[in-house]
Amino acid sequence: MIITNIQVWQLDLPLTKAYWLSGGRLKFEQLDSSFVRIETNTSLVGWGEACPWGHTYLPAHGGGVRAALALLAPALIGQDPLALDHINAVMDTQLPGHPYAKAALDIACWDILGKASGLPLYRLLGAPEAAPVAVNSSISTGTPDQMVALIHQASAQGYRTHSAKIGGSDIALDLARMDAIADALPPGEAVTFDINRAWTPGVAVEVLNASRAQGWIEQPCQTLDQCLQVAKRVRQPIMLDECLHDFNDHLEAWKLGACEGVKVKPNRLGGLTRCRQIRDFCVSVGWSMHIEDVGGSVLADTVALHLAASTPQANRLASWLSHAHLALDPCPGQGARNLVGFARVPDLPGHGVEPDLDILGQPSAHYR
Ligand code: MG
Repeated sequence: MIITNIQVWQLDLPLTKAYWLSGGRLKFEQLDSSFVRIETNTSLVGWGEACPWGHTYLPAHGGGVRAALALLAPALIGQDPLALDHINAVMDTQLPGHPYAKAALDIACWDILGKASGLPLYRLLGAPEAAPVAVNSSISTGTPDQMVALIHQASAQGYRTHSAKIGGSDIALDLARMDAIADALPPGEAVTFDINRAWTPGVAVEVLNASRAQGWIEQPCQTLDQCLQVAKRVRQPIMLDECLHDFNDHLEAWKLGACEGVKVKPNRLGGLTRCRQIRDFCVSVGWSMHIEDVGGSVLADTVALHLAASTPQANRLASWLSHAHLALDPCPGQGARNLVGFARVPDLPGHGVEPDLDILGQPSAHYR
């Protein structure tokens, strides 16, 4: 089997309401997503999506995805989409780095592999059946009272794990947010405080040692070394996210003892081929993982949830669903969606999601 042509669509995905990260430092209202469809010399086609969370969250942006695809896609014409390690090697030769753009092509090839073998991705990723995946809420930065109210709302919708976005220059306000949430958290529920790299190590150590909160602390500072300084001096478990870009970053974090868990996101790491390697490493060293994507429609969410569903329960925390924040759904009725705190991946060959061409409109590029 060979790849014969690749089409690309750009689609703006507006959020249902503005979303604030990092103590209000970063605001998001719309995502810029790119969808790719890979055709082969058989009847099989594969779909992938690459959708950064805006352009201020990671070194990634929608225009960058499509500029990179213009270099990557022509190099894949004539290649075997089932040879995933080779596909990734070809992409890495053609354009070093830029994992967020490669994710769409890698995932479309995994979709073809699933369809060619008649198996859903969770089977190809190692699981005998699709375990239901607990999904977590995402609590936008606000006042302590606003954030507690959002957690109670999410709890009423079936969420039992919450990701609360805090972090900023007002130390007293962050401490108030953390303690209010820790005190109000319903029994049996868990919260991760996601700082989104807003703190300096000194602020992180001060806030975390003063807080009553015991839960996970995610990406407190900008760099791995800064997060390591924090990890050595606080009692809460540390989770890393934005500072991890490839396998070697994970290896370095483990060697340093910088964390007890990580976020595993196909769009940040370059697709499922890279994520599977990193997921297996994380299981080997006993880390906890939130497996989800950076952003995107139900297609991106469903791909990430296939990986989550095939990961041992002992290493798996809840997964966030980006599409739950969107006002536009390009794949109506399909994929992994929240059913009272849990989501199930489709039992279809591949990832099981196909965008509606009427919603996507005209392709922005066609490589053949
Ligand atoms: Mg995070």
